[in-house]
Order: sequence, then structure tokens, then C-alpha cells
Amino acid sequence: MTEEQIDMELIREAGKIIRDGGLVAFPTETVYGLGGDALNPLSSRKIYAAKGRPSDNPLIVHIADQQALSSIVGEIPGNAWKLAERFWPGPLTMILHKSDRVPRETTGGLDTVAVRMPANRIAQEMIRAAGGYVAAPSANRSGRPSPTVARYVAEDLAGRVEMIIDGGDVEIGLESTIVDLTSDRPMVLRPGYITRQDLENVLSEVEEDRTLMEADAGQAPKAPGMKYRHYAPKGEMTVVKGVEEQVVSYINERCRECRDAGRRTGVIATDETLSGYCADVCRSVGCRHDEEAIARELYRILREFDDEAVEVIYAEAFDDSGIGRAIMNRLLKAAGHRVHLV
Ligand code: AMP
Ligand code: MG
Repeated sequence: MTEEQIDMELIREAGKIIRDGGLVAFPTETVYGLGGDALNPLSSRKIYAAKGRPSDNPLIVHIADQQALSSIVGEIPGNAWKLAERFWPGPLTMILHKSDRVPRETTGGLDTVAVRMPANRIAQEMIRAAGGYVAAPSANRSGRPSPTVARYVAEDLAGRVEMIIDGGDVEIGLESTIVDLTSDRPMVLRPGYITRQDLENVLSEVEEDRTLMEADAGQAPKAPGMKYRHYAPKGEMTVVKGVEEQVVSYINERCRECRDAGRRTGVIATDETLSGYCADVCRSVGCRHDEEAIARELYRILREFDDEAVEVIYAEAFDDSGIGRAIMNRLLKAAGHRVHLV
């Protein structure tokens, strides 16, 4: 179905599945989500089991109306209202102190809860039909790239969920920005489509968890999920940084070596460089300066490398400001922070 033509009968069925303790995968504007009743501890356990996700990695609670916030959150700070006013519905998740209604199974044992109000209308209708509170991590098996089309949800979760709602391609393609509002200063725990600058335009000062872009910042990330190797394709991936021509020739050299050794290679290129590569599988994420297109294409391409049984992947690096920060954060995590400077 599409956001313009929502099949309300299917939505009601999905809502009932969730209210009865089952799981439904559904589209949001960021990536596909794997939804269960956020207020039912058994549903959260099922989500962890279906994903193969460690249970100390908390889930995001999705709501469809701002009023829903007050019953799952303790005190709502002024900053939360300001951000909700500006960015909800949309790709922003806020960490707030939880109320007793939210079971610890949903929050991975924490006293805080992550809350988001998605903009996708299919998601909104389904959340309402499900009772208003849907815990939903990305609808992939743990460690795999998040799904941006329903086909990839089915590949990972068919037989593990009661229903998959196909809403076509997602709009954004990277998970939501996460901002923690429970400490003195607001802090970005995961970069996304909404940038630190966007947040600072509303809240003046916003910090960023320093583990996000560094391989070894000497501390654990503040969002428990960010410590896991994540977003990963099956092939071994390296990000190559440097002047364009040198990046291309370095990658080509490595690809020739791999070919001699009988290993299948893949390259994440841009429209500007695509024709210059000699890898077995070359894919462009789009024009280098079109960050929105890159965000949309990245996970699909990582999945395609798996489909094509690519064993060694080289990716060009991108500018890490604006939305580029979220793109580079995901690329670096997919590469296990393996970076080569030329
Ligand atoms: P996903 O559901 O795959 O988008 O991942 C959710 C992300 O939100 C993970 O990285 C979690 O660690 C993070 N998260 C969820 N709840 C909290 C919380 N209460 N405090 C900090 N991070 C959280
Ligand atoms: Mg995920």
C-alpha cells in the first residue's frame, strides 16, 4: 500500500496482531520497523528473539500523537516540547526518563525511554490501531543493514513475524537521529537526517557523543546499541579517504590483487567515479553532493553486495558534515572502522 492509499482493513488487522502480543513489520520514513506492543514485556522479548538482538539494547517506542508522550515519560522537560514542536512527526528520537507504564524489557533495563513520532502515515495509522505505543527497532536480523524495502524485511524476518506491511521504498533510508535529553546538556547519541545544527537552531547548544566517529574513543557509546558491530554487510569492508583520483587508483589496485587471489570485490562509488573502477560489482550511491540520495541508497547497496556474494568491499569516504555525518557514521560502523588514507 502507499501513504496516499492506506488499506484500513489491513491496518486494523495489524493493530489487532500487536494488541494480542504479536509482531508486525511496517514502513516508516527512516527504515522499516519491527513493531510490538511497547507496554507488553512479552512483546519486547519477542522482538529481541525475532531480531536475534541482545536484550540490553533498548527499543524505540513509537507514538502517533504528542499527547501519548505524557503517559510513558516521567517529567517532560521544556526542551522536549520544543523539539517535538519543530521535528515531530519526523526522524527524531528523544531519550527521556520513563514512567512506570513502560516495562524494563522495552528499555533494555534502563530508567530512560527512547520515543519517536514517525511521519509515515501508514506507520501512524498502525500505531493508533495497535493501541498507541509500538516498540520498533529496525526490521532486520541483528547486525545486518537496516531494510529500506519490504523485500529485505522478508529476507530477514519471514516466519518470525505475523505480518509484513509493504509500503514501498522508504524516504530517508537511515535510522532516526537520537538525542538524549536526560542529562545537563542535550546530546546526540546517533546522527541522522536531522543534524546537530538543526537541533542547535532550536536548543542553542547540543553536544555529540564522541564515540560516534572514532574507532577508539576510550569509552562505551551512550546509546547501548551503538557499541555493536552494526549495519554490516557480509563482506569485509574498508573506507578509503583521500583525493578522488588517488582513491580510485588505490581501490583498483586492491581489487586486482583480490581478483588474483580469487576473491570477489565490490566498490561503493559515486556517479562521478563509477566508470573508473574495475571491481566485480560496482555500485553508485548517486551524485557525491546529493546527500539525501546517498542516505537513501546506502543500505540497499550493502545488501546487494551480500546478494552478489561480494567478499571484499571498498567504499569512498564522504564529507562528514550535515547529513553526511550520519552517512559516515553508518559507513564506518559497517566497516568496523577500517579506514585507509591515501
Ligand atoms: P534501532 O531500534 O535499531 O533503531 O536502535 C535503537 C537505538 O536507540 C539503539 O542504538 C539503542 O541503543 C538506542 N536507545 C534506545 N533506547 C535508549 C535509551 N533509553 N538510552 C540510550 N539509547 C537508547
Ligand atoms: Mg537497528
